[in-house]
Amino acid sequence: MSNNPKIIQLSQRTLAVRSGLNSDEQHGAVIPKISLSTCYRFAEFAKPREFDYGRKSTPNRHSVEKTIADLEGGADAILTNSGMSAIHLLSVALLSPGDLVVAPHDCYGGSYRLFNSLSEKGYFNVQFIDQSNEQALTQVLALKPKLVLIETPSNPLLRIVDIEHIASLAHNAGALVLVDNTFMTPILQSPFTLGADVIIHSCTKFLNGHSDLLAGVLVFKEQTLADDVLWWSNNIGTANSSFDTYLLQRGLRTLAVRVLAQQQSALKIVDFLANHPKIAAVHHPSLASTPGHDIAKKQQKGFGSLLSFELKAAADKTPAFIERLNIFTLAQSLGGTESLISHPTTMTHSGISAQARKAAGISDQLLRISVGLEDVQDLINDLQQALDVI
Ligand SMILES: *Cc1c(COP(=O)(O)O)cnc(C)c1O
Repeated sequence: MSNNPKIIQLSQRTLAVRSGLNSDEQHGAVIPKISLSTCYRFAEFAKPREFDYGRKSTPNRHSVEKTIADLEGGADAILTNSGMSAIHLLSVALLSPGDLVVAPHDCYGGSYRLFNSLSEKGYFNVQFIDQSNEQALTQVLALKPKLVLIETPSNPLLRIVDIEHIASLAHNAGALVLVDNTFMTPILQSPFTLGADVIIHSCTKFLNGHSDLLAGVLVFKEQTLADDVLWWSNNIGTANSSFDTYLLQRGLRTLAVRVLAQQQSALKIVDFLANHPKIAAVHHPSLASTPGHDIAKKQQKGFGSLLSFELKAAADKTPAFIERLNIFTLAQSLGGTESLISHPTTMTHSGISAQARKAAGISDQLLRISVGLEDVQDLINDLQQALDVI
């Protein structure tokens, strides 16, 4: 491909499958090699080649960055060693003491902790608000924040907010808009078309999709901001390893196929749970009962493969249900080929007080599922037999 001029607009599925293929000029290897070298010989005195030192860039990282930027329709991307380090990098590059960050009150726990702890050290200020509350949004935007983080759907209740609406208000207030697109992936949601300036993904989740590496990425609408942040990335040293990048590229090839198949299974599981007498509630953007269902229909290209539900039985029955499951693994990540189940009260949200959890709508009977690629009937049978014992 590298020798051919780009004559057609490629679909996301093709872009992902063909990421970095045929880039080896020397041997014609179809699959890109892992380039482990940390340093690159200068072409001649005072003349570096495309790469000079691995902290700044490497062939593997550059290739994956290009693919993810193309998948999101952005100008450029920067790969980092985790989703958190991507958010940290943007914060350091962008914010000064006194600047205000606005984030959702129900954002990813790691983002909450990072913004909170850095603000306590005086690096910048932060306010967490319910972004579906118009009044709260207007009040906080009047303070002229520098950065507004949007994360939709939320975890674990899959609440939806309107990216286009919030981004437009944030821009009017002079803020930069960052969208965490980890749950949807570029296949199901395109934040740049809705007004985002920067997109962050935890590549640890769907983009890699095999639960065997940590990585993060920032995707930029404009090249100038990407260049500024790349300077900071080299300055701090947020690079990920070539081996992980190689695996990430391998995982990316099946992104579209995985995301669509997982979503299809999720819809069947939602249907099963929503009609089961032992289930009190199901949360998934496909359901009209999930707040923001109409917004999801408008801004998403699908409803995704994450869902949560509440058991009707008393909270002390929850461990028995989980222990009875054969296929679903009790673990707190998401987006892999394997189906996972998590219990927010004792896992992702255990650091929050019981009172705060209750206020956020997280009961002790709430469970979150990340639907994998197993046969969906096997998954439903597994849930059925575990529900039978409680
Ligand atoms: C996992 C996750 C992160 C953090 O990513 P890591 O790769 O674990 O550092 C950020 N945002 C969301 C929505 C996530 O699910």
